[in-house]
Amino acid sequence: MSAVALHPTRCPICQTEGNAAQLYPANFDPRAFNPAVFSARRLPDRLHYRLVRCATCELVRSDPVAEAGALARLYAQSSFDYGEEVRHIRRTYGRYLARLKGPRGALLEVGCGNGFLLEEALDQGWDQVWGVEPSQAAVAQAAPRVQGRIRCDVLRPGLFAPASFDAICMFQVFDHLPDPGSLLPECLGLLRPGGRLLLLNHNVAAWSARLLGERSPIVDIEHTCLYSPATLGRLVARRGFRVEGAGAVLNDYSLHYLARLLPLPGGIKGCLLALLQGSALGRFCLRVPLGNLWLVARRPEEG
Ligand SMILES: [Zn+2]
Repeated sequence: MSAVALHPTRCPICQTEGNAAQLYPANFDPRAFNPAVFSARRLPDRLHYRLVRCATCELVRSDPVAEAGALARLYAQSSFDYGEEVRHIRRTYGRYLARLKGPRGALLEVGCGNGFLLEEALDQGWDQVWGVEPSQAAVAQAAPRVQGRIRCDVLRPGLFAPASFDAICMFQVFDHLPDPGSLLPECLGLLRPGGRLLLLNHNVAAWSARLLGERSPIVDIEHTCLYSPATLGRLVARRGFRVEGAGAVLNDYSLHYLARLLPLPGGIKGCLLALLQGSALGRFCLRVPLGNLWLVARRPEEG
């Protein structure tokens, strides 16, 4: 695998370059880039870019990062590995989707994987669902009722007609975007006036992230930025959205999946996972605040 060139990033909120304090130095070799590293729900391997916190707006971001084109190619080839956990993920995301106010007309999910949440949205009474997903492997696994509704692509201008959606959602996607600030105007334009944006992603202000610091699984090479409810609210407000609410997410997880996230030495973790794999104990489901946040913002009616 050839080395990937890194380039400096700009704070997507206040647009400054530099102007930030280093939190952690990078801990990888640029030759380590390959599709497996950019696959959903892979075993955390603690690889990360240099992380900094903006001195003006406190947003945590990776700096420098690989160029967007290289990332797009990696995500296009990435594998898809939700496994048994998809049941719990669907239940968690579905709870936050169900709380969205407004008409259940047309919904777009950006980074929809195999479209399991699009199915959930149909079950919740949405008339029309659309998804965008760069991973060919994920789209190939979509159920027949949503397969034709997923564009194998990244969200870009011209993919959908302006003002055609009542809601746009992104689950565990927003912190992966190479240029989050520029995707928001695209989302704003795709929403009808009053339409809602629902984001669910990691929360850098959560107790787990603060406690684990650099050892937290969210400090990861896949994450361009790490948000708190405050910094994510600032970013979407800066791009013309009106924030309706934000807070901590309660996740449904199996004990087996929680064990995967534990910061344990490889050998001990391997034994624990083998013990829980396929057992009734491993399938036991818990609802815990595991370091994610939700945010709902609206396109202003006059906007
Ligand atoms: Zn900033």
